[in-house]
Amino acid sequence: MERFDYLIIGNSVGAVGCIETLRSFDKGGSIAVIGEEPHHVYSRALLPYYLDQEVPVEKMLYRPVDFYERLGVTPVLGRRVVGLDTAGHVVKLDDGRTISYGKLLLATGGRPIVPPIPGLDTEKENICNFVALQDLQRISRLLPSAGRVVVLGGGIIGLMAAEALHKKGLEVGVVELAPRVLAPVVDEFTSRLIEEAFRRSGVAIYTGTTFKEVQGGERATGVVLTDGTSLPCDLLVVAVGVVPRVDLAREAGLAVNRGILVNQQMETSAADVYACGDCAEVYDFLMGNRRVLPLWPNAYAGGRVAAYNMLGMKREYDRATSMNAMHFFDLNIITAGLNTAGEKDGFEVISRFDAGSRSYRRFVLKDDRIHGFTLVTGIARAGIFLHLMRRGCAVTSFKEKLLEGEFGYLTIPEGLRRELLIDEGVMSEHAAANQ
Ligand SMILES: Cc1cc2nc3c(=O)[nH]c(=O)nc-3n(C[C@H](O)[C@H](O)[C@H](O)COP(=O)(O)OP(=O)(O)OC[C@H]3O[C@@H](n4cnc5c(N)ncnc54)[C@H](O)[C@@H]3O)c2cc1C
Repeated sequence: MERFDYLIIGNSVGAVGCIETLRSFDKGGSIAVIGEEPHHVYSRALLPYYLDQEVPVEKMLYRPVDFYERLGVTPVLGRRVVGLDTAGHVVKLDDGRTISYGKLLLATGGRPIVPPIPGLDTEKENICNFVALQDLQRISRLLPSAGRVVVLGGGIIGLMAAEALHKKGLEVGVVELAPRVLAPVVDEFTSRLIEEAFRRSGVAIYTGTTFKEVQGGERATGVVLTDGTSLPCDLLVVAVGVVPRVDLAREAGLAVNRGILVNQQMETSAADVYACGDCAEVYDFLMGNRRVLPLWPNAYAGGRVAAYNMLGMKREYDRATSMNAMHFFDLNIITAGLNTAGEKDGFEVISRFDAGSRSYRRFVLKDDRIHGFTLVTGIARAGIFLHLMRRGCAVTSFKEKLLEGEFGYLTIPEGLRRELLIDEGVMSEHAAANQ
C-alpha cells in the first residue's frame, strides 16, 4: 500500500494553503493530494469570467502548472475518496486503491444544493449548477441553443451567473425565495442597490417566490413560480448555495455538525485528522461561535494553520470572520463581520448614501468598536476598516468620520494611527514615533 506523510483530500485552495506551509518547513516529507475533479487547482471566483470573457482554463489556474512537481507533491486527480479508516490511518479510493497517511487534511469543500422541486434535476440536459469548472463547460456547450435562462437563487453565485449570462446576450431572470437578493449577506439598502443595478441592466429579478415546478421532460422548457408566473427558458441554473461535504467524515465517525467540527488548531475529533475550508466549522472571532465560512481566504488560512499543527508548530486560527468582496455591473461591494446586524440586535448603526456617486457606507458598532461594515462603490479604505475591526480599536471619538469619503489613516487620532501603522508593518516603531 502506498503511504504518504501528509495526505490531503480535496484539491482546491485549502489544499494549497496546507501544501505551501508544509513544504516551507518540511522539505523531505511525502505529500499527496487527492481530487475528484480532474483539473489542476483553479480559482472558483474566476468561473464567471470563463463564461462571459471566455478566459481560458490556463488563466484560471490558482498556481502554475508545475506547482505539484516543484513542491514535490503527488497529485491523484480525477479520483474520489470513498472510505476513511481513522484508526488504521487509511483512505480508500473509488478505484479500489488504498493509501495510508501520517497526517490527513479534509478539504472537501461544499456540494451544491438542489431543492426538491418537481422536475428540477441537474441530470437533465439543460439544468446546471454553477460551482465547478465542469458546470461552466456544460453551460458553454448549451449557450449556442439558449436564448432565455432562469437562475434559481439570488445569492452571490446566482447573481454572478446571472450577470455573466446576461453579458453573453441571454435574456435572464433570477428567482429568489427571500424578499430581497443576497438577504443573508448584505443589509436591505445594499440589496436594493444591487437589485436596481440588475434591473437597470435588463435582468429580471423575482423576489419572494420560487419554482413551483419545472416544465418539460428531459429538457426543461420553463418554470412556473409559486405566485403563478410562467417563465419559459432554454437553460436553468441552480444556484441556491452549497452544503459542506461531510459524508466521508460522518461515515468515519468524526464529530460533525453542519460542517466538520474542528478546534482552533483545525484538528477534528480523530487523531491526526484535520479539516479546513467550506467543509469545516471554524471559530468566528466576532460572532463568538463556530460556523461554516465558505470563503476563499478562510480555506487558505485554515489549510495553513492545519499544516503548522501537523508539523508540531502549534498555531491557532483566531482571525476567521465573514468577509465578502463582490462586483456586480458597476457596483463594487465589500462587507465584513456582522455587517447585516442592526439596532434590533443591540448594535448602533451609522450609514451614509451619496446619490451622486452611488456610494454607501454602513458601520455596525457596539462597545466603542466596529463589529461589521458594508462599503458600496467607495471601497478603497476597506483594509483600514478591517484592521480597526480586527484589533477591536476604540472608534467612538471619530465614528462620524468613518462615513466620509476621504477617511484614511490621517483621520485616525495620532496614537492609534501609530499603533496601526506599526502593526501593519507600514512603518517602523522609530518612524512612527517621529510622526
Ligand atoms: C462561482 C463561485 C465564485 C466564488 N467567488 C468567491 C469570491 O469571490 N470570494 C470568496 O471568498 N469566495 C468565493 N467563492 C467561494 C470559494 O470558492 C470557496 O470558499 C473555496 O473554494 C473553498 O475552498 P475549499 O478548499 O474548502 O474547497 P472547494 O474549493 O470546494 O474544493 C473542494 C474540492 O474537494 C473535492 N472533493 C470533495 N470530496 C472529495 C472526495 N471524497 N475525494 C476527492 N475529492 C473530493 C471537490 O471535488 C473539490 O474539487 C466562490 C465560489 C464559487 C462557486
